[in-house]
Amino acid sequence: PYEMLVVGGGPAGASAAIYSARKGIRTGIVTAKFGGQVLDTVGIENFISVKKTEGPKLVAHLEEHVKDYAVDVMRDQMASKIVAAEQVGGLISVELENGAVLKSRSIVLSTGARWREINVPGEKEYLGKGVAYCPHCDGPLFKGKRVAVVGGGNSGIEAAIDLAGLVGHVTVLEFGDTLRADAVLVRKAESLPNITIIKNAATTEITGDGDKVNAIHYTDRTNDESKTVELEGIFVQIGLIPNTEFLKDDIELSQHGEIIIDNRGATNVPGVFAAGDATTVPFKQIIIAMGAGSTAALGAFDYMIRSSAP
Ligand code: FAD
Repeated sequence: PYEMLVVGGGPAGASAAIYSARKGIRTGIVTAKFGGQVLDTVGIENFISVKKTEGPKLVAHLEEHVKDYAVDVMRDQMASKIVAAEQVGGLISVELENGAVLKSRSIVLSTGARWREINVPGEKEYLGKGVAYCPHCDGPLFKGKRVAVVGGGNSGIEAAIDLAGLVGHVTVLEFGDTLRADAVLVRKAESLPNITIIKNAATTEITGDGDKVNAIHYTDRTNDESKTVELEGIFVQIGLIPNTEFLKDDIELSQHGEIIIDNRGATNVPGVFAAGDATTVPFKQIIIAMGAGSTAALGAFDYMIRSSAP
């Protein structure tokens, strides 16, 4: 059995594994893909101390760092269930989709999240070429330009207010007839001169010149008219879905499906810790996920030295 088994090999998981292996305990990572969302990221300019890098490059560095330690990396494996230990300090089981069962005295869950997509033509083709999901990451790339934010919930309106300070103009497209964001955010957005809010807008297509986005198209749901907004950037803000469906019967999740953790990364199940985008951490970023991964690993180590194996 392992002493630490990390489930999910993105930045949070890589960090947890390194911190754990450095304690000299038997460590494994079981993951669908190594690298997580970072694999799909084009430019990264907010990984502090590295001025500019690219997703696959950062993943290669993560992998190299993990390989420096005795960590068993098990790829192409999906965890499907966690079974708590019979008593505190005992072995926790991680069941895999292929039927195998791995056992460990402590677990870090770091299965990350995925952005909800609009699912319209052009969205995938122009990812990283004008279509973006993270205003903290990509906002500065659109300095002085025209952008749209799709989604009028809290994250969409927060993104619009954030972007309005950087870009030339922001158009918010909300599908419903009202904005779902908190009133204080809506008031702030409505007070800014370079934000236009359009409700009842069903996005239909994203177009470009083959290289870069040039417009977003939508149907006005009040009269079925087709409309076009010319722009350079589109931020999709219609939700971030944590990869935690497989945990719902065994680990306490928030109403949004996020793993509930305390400030040591502990979940409600003894010996099971969690980190990164899959958890209730309020901000979802690479550097934050790495910090959380190290917190969870240290939390788990502390749990192990305080609870002897039965
Ligand atoms: P993830 O990176 O999501 O990794 C989770 C891993 O778990 C994945 O490898 C997945 O395959 C695996 N997994 C999932 N379910 C299971 C399962 N059941 N069993 C086994 N394995 C499983 N952040 C920044 O700081 N700067 C940026 O510039 C930036 N740009 C971004 C651009 C894009 C397009 C996207 C999508 C995200 C971007 N982010 C950026 C956000 C950043 O990538 C995430 O915050 C970060 O990757 C979260 O790390 P994580 O380890 O928690 O999860």
